[in-house]
Order: sequence, then structure tokens, then C-alpha cells
Amino acid sequence: MKTNLLEFDLAGLVAFCESLGEKRFRAIQIYRWIHQQGASDFAAMTDLAKSLRFKLEQNACIEPLKVASEHRSKDGTVKWLFDVGDGNAVEAVFIPEDDRATLCISSQAGCAVGCRFCSTGHQGFSRNLTAGEIIAQLWFAEHSLRRSSGTTERVISNVVMMGMGEPLQNYSALVPALRTMLDDHAYGLSRRRVTVSTSGVVPMMDRLARDCPVALAVSLHAPDDVLRDHLVPLNRKYPLRELLDACVRYLASAPRDFITFEYCMLDGVNDRAEQAHQLVDLVRAALPGKSWCKFNLIPFNPFPASGLSRSPPPAIDAFAEVLSHAGIVTTVRKTRGDDIDAACGQLAGEVRDRTRAAERMASRRTISIHRAKARTFDCKEADIG
Ligand code: SAH
Ligand code: SF4
Repeated sequence: MKTNLLEFDLAGLVAFCESLGEKRFRAIQIYRWIHQQGASDFAAMTDLAKSLRFKLEQNACIEPLKVASEHRSKDGTVKWLFDVGDGNAVEAVFIPEDDRATLCISSQAGCAVGCRFCSTGHQGFSRNLTAGEIIAQLWFAEHSLRRSSGTTERVISNVVMMGMGEPLQNYSALVPALRTMLDDHAYGLSRRRVTVSTSGVVPMMDRLARDCPVALAVSLHAPDDVLRDHLVPLNRKYPLRELLDACVRYLASAPRDFITFEYCMLDGVNDRAEQAHQLVDLVRAALPGKSWCKFNLIPFNPFPASGLSRSPPPAIDAFAEVLSHAGIVTTVRKTRGDDIDAACGQLAGEVRDRTRAAERMASRRTISIHRAKARTFDCKEADIG
């Protein structure tokens, strides 16, 4: 079985090359060919000796993800659906803006956290992506966008782990993928331009601060534990007090002096002005006298099984006003790529439509729900250690 070189960060590739009797600088050359040039076969690596190229061909491969579909929105958003086998698919979404171009990528097929308002959560957990499958989304998007726009310049300026899955429940694959995003021999993104979004896996937030402190976004969604227990079931394990403390600890390593809180605006559920006041009290109590967080209000993207609806714009504005008035920088996320269902939380619904996974999953539903629960436990045991 050949080794897929996309699985490695630079340290991993160096170790692999050494196992073939090759020196570190060869690994750097190969890493650059793969990630900077988008090479997918060794024949293209013209500055490597023929004998080395032959050795690589015998032992290694550069295995991209299978593209199941590509959709381009009128607003420039591009969404790819990748088939990761066994009826599972994950998505990556490219979002160009005036001052940046962001790629949103997935960390798992499905998700075990099971948030009420998230279609990925409703789908249940299928499996973790490997480090190679995580970075392959960036590798593919970057080089395919360069080809389609006829440029050799870098296209993607920011990466957010906000697609399908809970990245901190796939920690061992996440970290090598992040390291490749940051490495100057690969994508060379600064730590502040790579964001991990988490529903609040507290122990892994501390590990991320030590291992690879990129920008952090935390999905908050509720100002009190009773509501958050209901919306984000992981809150029962890591309640708000612990989560907020972990955010404050993370600040010491964070690439910017704030943490972003994401807050999905759900009509009549978490969008009352009094709940905004509670949020202000919550963040002030966690770190008094300092402006240390920003809020990103996300208008809910409805899907039928959720039974929830989007807060009306005046409610979102009033909510934002309370936070801003208290001195907390607050933004309301623009909905992008609506015509191709690329907005947050629409990913899994689309996957099911595209792959007919719904039918397939129906028979596995009970099993997968049990499995999802078991995996939540496994991940915690294995990853949190
Ligand atoms: N699992 C991680 C990252 C993926 S979800 C997390 O939960 O943070 C990325 C963001 O999309 C999260 O803030 C999540 O709360 C939000 N989201 C999920 N479903 C949504 C929906 N239907 N409408 C709007 N935002 C949603
Ligand atoms: Fe998982 Fe994030 Fe969706 Fe919650 S919001 S179910 S953590 S992907």
C-alpha cells in the first residue's frame, strides 16, 4: 500500500523521506511541489533525481479527494462536494470578498455533537477525516482556483474550520493539517488567518493553545446552561463557566487579542434583548474590565427537520445593538452562496440530496446514533487523554 503524502506535515514528510534514506531538504522540495505547485504526480518534480522519483512512485502517492460536484454561485462563492467513500460526502466552500478570500473546510463526515440547529448534527457521526483528507480540501481548492483564474499567485488568504464536523473531536488529524496550512514551505498562512471553530471541547482548546495556537471561534448560541444544554448537547459535559474560562486561558496564546463567539440567531429561542444582556454579563464576569471577545451573529439557515426558524432582521439588529452598546464588537454574518445552498448549516442537507445518503442512512440511523454517542465518548477518551 502506497503512502499518501498529503497525510504529512513537514515533520512527517521528513520522517517518511528518512525512512527511504533521503535527507530533510528532499522532503522540503517534495512538500513544496505538492502544496505550492499543486503537483499530483512525481514525474512533475523535475528537480528530483530520476532514481528518487522512481522510489517515490514505488512507495508513495498524492491522493486527492474525489470531487462529486462543484457549484458556482452568482456572488463568486464556490462549493465542492467531495465523496469520501461509504456514502459519505463532505464539503468545502470558497468565499471571495473584497479584502480576503476564505475557504471553509470540513473536519469530519457528520458530527457527533448533535446541535439542534445544525443539519450536520442531525445527520449523526460517520467518521473522522484523516489529516490528508482535511488538507486535500485546501490543496484542491487552491490549485483548482488558480487554474480556473489563470494565476500562479496564491488565491486563498484565510481558512476556517467551519464546515462539517467538530474539529476538536478530530484533534490528531486536525493538527498536522493546520501545520501544513501555516508552513512557509506549503501555504504559509499566518496563524491569525486560520480559524478553528469549536462547539466547546474544553480540554482540546487548552491543547490547541499549546500545539498550534491559531485563531479561535467558539460556538456559543446561548447565554445560560439550560438553553445551551438543549441547543449544544456538549454543554452538559463542558458547561458555560468552564467554556468561558477556557476561552480566557486561550487568549494568552491566541494570535489576536480576542476570541470570536458565534451565535446562531433562532427566532424566539435565543434572540431576545434580555438574552443579549445576559451574554454581556457572562463575558464580563469571565474577564472583568477587558474587551476580549467579538460576537458574530449568524442568521439561522433553516432546514425542515430542525423545527426552528431564523430570527427576523429587526430582532437580530436589536440584539447586535445591545452587545455593541456594551462595547463588544459585533458583526452580523452576511448570507453567501444562497443560490447554491453554501451557507452555514446547509451543508449536510445538500449532501443528503446529492448522494441519496438519506435513504442509505435511514437503515443505519439507529446504529449511527448509538455509534455517535459512543464516539463522543471515544473521542474524549482518546483525544483528550
Ligand atoms: N463544529 C464546529 C464547526 C462547524 S459548524 C462548531 O460548531 O463551531 C460552523 C458554524 O456554523 C458554527 O458556529 C455553527 O453553530 C454554525 N451553524 C451550524 N448550523 C447552522 C445553521 N443551520 N444556521 C446557521 N449557522 C449554523
Ligand atoms: Fe457539530 Fe458544529 Fe454542527 Fe454542532 S454546529 S453539530 S458541533 S458541526
